[in-house]
Amino acid sequence: MTHLTESQLFFDVAVDKPLYQLFTYQYLKDIPLGSRVSIPFGSKKITGIVIQKNTHPKIALNKIKSIEQVLDPTPIFTSEWISLIQFTATYYLYPIGQTFFSTLPVDLKQNKSIQHPKKPLLYQFNAKINDEKPPQARHQALLALWNALKNSFISLDEAIYLHPNAKSYLKKYQTKGLLDTKIENNLSQWQYRTKTLNQEQKTASQAVINHINQFKCFLLFGITGSGKTEVYFELINRVIQEKKQILMLLPVINLTPQFFARVKETFSEANIAVLHSKISKRQRLDNYLNASNGTAQIIIGTRLSIFTPLKNLGLIIVDEEHDDSFKQENDLRYNARDLAIWRAQKNDCPIVLGSATPSLESWYNACQKKYTLLTLTNRAISQSTLPEIHLISTKNKILHEGFSDEVLDQIQKNLSKKELTLVYLNRRGYAPTIVCLDCGHVIECDYCSAKMVYHKQQQRLKCHHCEHEQKIPCACPKCGNQDLTSLGIGTERIEQFLHDFFPTARIARVDSDTIANKNAWTDIYENVLNDEIDILIGTQILAKGHDFKNLSLVTVIHTDGSLFSADYRAPEKLFSELMQVSGRAGRDRTKGQVLIQTQFPDHPLFQALKKHNYPEFAEQQLSERLSLGFPPKSHRIVIKAEHIDFNIAEAFLKELAESIIPEPEVTIIGPLPMTMLKVANRERAILYFESENRGLLHQTVKKAIAQLLSLQNNYRTLKWTIDVDPNET
Ligand code: ADP
Ligand code: ZN
Repeated sequence: MTHLTESQLFFDVAVDKPLYQLFTYQYLKDIPLGSRVSIPFGSKKITGIVIQKNTHPKIALNKIKSIEQVLDPTPIFTSEWISLIQFTATYYLYPIGQTFFSTLPVDLKQNKSIQHPKKPLLYQFNAKINDEKPPQARHQALLALWNALKNSFISLDEAIYLHPNAKSYLKKYQTKGLLDTKIENNLSQWQYRTKTLNQEQKTASQAVINHINQFKCFLLFGITGSGKTEVYFELINRVIQEKKQILMLLPVINLTPQFFARVKETFSEANIAVLHSKISKRQRLDNYLNASNGTAQIIIGTRLSIFTPLKNLGLIIVDEEHDDSFKQENDLRYNARDLAIWRAQKNDCPIVLGSATPSLESWYNACQKKYTLLTLTNRAISQSTLPEIHLISTKNKILHEGFSDEVLDQIQKNLSKKELTLVYLNRRGYAPTIVCLDCGHVIECDYCSAKMVYHKQQQRLKCHHCEHEQKIPCACPKCGNQDLTSLGIGTERIEQFLHDFFPTARIARVDSDTIANKNAWTDIYENVLNDEIDILIGTQILAKGHDFKNLSLVTVIHTDGSLFSADYRAPEKLFSELMQVSGRAGRDRTKGQVLIQTQFPDHPLFQALKKHNYPEFAEQQLSERLSLGFPPKSHRIVIKAEHIDFNIAEAFLKELAESIIPEPEVTIIGPLPMTMLKVANRERAILYFESENRGLLHQTVKKAIAQLLSLQNNYRTLKWTIDVDPNET
C-alpha cells in the first residue's frame, strides 16, 4: 500500500469520451465538485469536470496524472446537477463523460475559462410613447417588440429575439427620446399582470400551490384554449414569491417569440432566460450561467434545458407533455419529461405536466393515482366553443385529387362567407410515389427503404428520410418504358388542384419546403392576419400553437394510414394530431367546423374524436395495450445495430443475445429487422429487452454493455445504440 501524503488529493473526472467510466486525477489543493478543469489525456490537453473525490484510487499513485488548471473560479455546476447527469447516464446507459458533455453549451466544452455574463442595459418606453401610434396588428413581430417595451424593461438580446431588426428600432426610439434605460431589474418591484382565473383554473392552481415546496406530479389535462397557460402563470407567480426558480419546458415548435412576449408581458421586471437553439451562442451561454447563478427566475427552454444547472428550483412545468420532441432520438437518447419528474422529486418541488391529449404513459399514471389529475373542461373565452367534428366517409366515393364533393362544397361555402379554411395534410411534396405504368416499378431512394417523393415545382425527386435528391428520370430505371406517373397526393399537388378548382381564392401553402427561410412564415402569417388569405394548406407545422382568428373550417384528408400502422403508438399520435388541428378552428368567436375524410368513420378513434373525448380514447387504447403487454404495462430497452449489410447487423445482435443471461422476468426478443429497414444506406436490426420490472430490465442490459464493448472489436464498421423507453422501433 502506497502512502498518501496530505498534499495529494484525488478526484474522479468526467471527460468527453465514449467510455463508461470516470478518470482519476490528482491536485495539490481541494477543488469544489462541479469545477471544470484542464487535464492531460493521452497526448492532448482536454476539459474535464470534477465529479467526486476519490480517497482510495485503484491505480498506482505514480501513474495518476495531475490536473493542470481549474478553469472557472467558482464552479458553474451544483451537486444537484451532478446527480441529475449521473442519473441520466445510468438510466439511459450512456457513457458517463459523454453524458456530462453532451448537455453543455459549446463554450463550456472548450478548454478555457469563460466570461461571466455582464449585466445588460435594459430599455423601456417612457410616458411619451402614449403620443405615438403603435404598429399595425399585422406587423406582428414589431408589435410584440412594442408591447414588450411598453410593459417592461428588456435587454437588446431579448428585443432581437422578438424582432430580428430590433437594434435599429431601439436606435430610432432612442433618438426620438422614447426610451428609459437602466442596468438591472428591481426584483422587489416585479409585477404580475393576469386575467381573473375562472373556477376550474383556480381549483387547478390551488391544488398545486397546496403542495409548493414538496414533490408531487400533476397532470393538467385541459382542452386546447382552456387556459392552461394562465394556470402556469399563476403558479410561476407564486413560486417567484418563494424566491425560487421555475423551469418551463416547451416543444421546439411552441417556443416562439410570441410566447416569450406573453411571458414578458405577464411578468414585467422578472428575469427570464430563454434556452433555445435559435438564440445566439453567447446569449445562450449567458442565460445558462444566469440560471446557474440564480439571476434568472424563469427559465424557458426546449428539451435540452432540462440539463440546466439551477440554484434553487421550485417548480417544473412541461407543456404539451405528450410531444415527441421531448425525446431525443440520437446520441444521448433521453426523455426530458421523464427526467423532469426525477428532477422535481430530487428538489422536493411540484411538477406540472400539461396537455390536451396526454401521453398514454402519463394518463396511466394518473389513473393509477401516481400523478394527480387536474382537469380544465371548458374553453377559457366563453364565446369560443369547441368545433363540431364531422366524419366524411370516402368509402365507394369518387375523389377529386383526394377531395370528396362534400368537402369541396364546404370550402366553397366558407369562401363565400369570407372565412379562413385550413386544409391539413401531413405530407409535403407533390406526390409520394413515382411509378412505371408498364412494369409497376416504384422509384425508391437508393439509400433508404422509402419511396422518392416527387417535388414538382423543383422538378426533383427527394427522399424525406435522408439528403438524397435526384432529377426525374425520363424512363423507368428498370424496364426503360417512358410512361412514368405520379401516385398519391402531397401538399404541392393539393395547392395546384385548389388553385384550379377555386381560381379566385387566395391560397398559401405552409410546409417545411415553403417556409425554409424564417421570414417566409412571418410573411404568410402577416397575410393571414391581414385577411389576405382564404385557404391555408399545411402540414403539422401549422397544427401547433398558432391562432388564426378568422379560421372556421378545417378539413383533414388522408389520415387512414396511421389507423393500422405497425407502430403501436401510431393511433395515439394520430388522435393527438387531429385534436391539435381541430383545436385551430373557432379559437376566437367564429364557430368552427372540422371535416375529416376517412374510409373508416366507425373506427373507435374517430368516434372518440368526434366527441372530443380523450378519456374515452385513452381508455380504449390503454386496455388494448395492457392486454397485449405493451408499454406502459411493460418497459422496453432496445439495442439497435446498423451496417451497410443487414446480415452483419443481425449477426452482431445474435451473438450478443446468445451471450446474455437475462435476469428473471426479462424477455429478450429478436434480433429483428427494424420497421424501416434501411436509412441513409445503413440497414438496421433491433434487439428487444422487455419486462414489467424496470430494475431487472436495467440490470440485464447493463450487464450486456461489457459484452457489447468487447464484441464491437470484431465488428469495426458497425454502429450500435441503446435506446431506453424507445419511441421508434
Ligand atoms: P391553453 O394553454 O390551454 O391552450 P391559453 O392559456 O392559451 O390556453 O388560453 C386560451 C385563451 O384564453 C387565451 O387567449 C387566453 O388569454 C384566454 N384566457 C385564458 N384564461 C382566461 C381567463 N381566466 N379569462 C379570460 N381569458 C382567458
Ligand atoms: Zn433516403
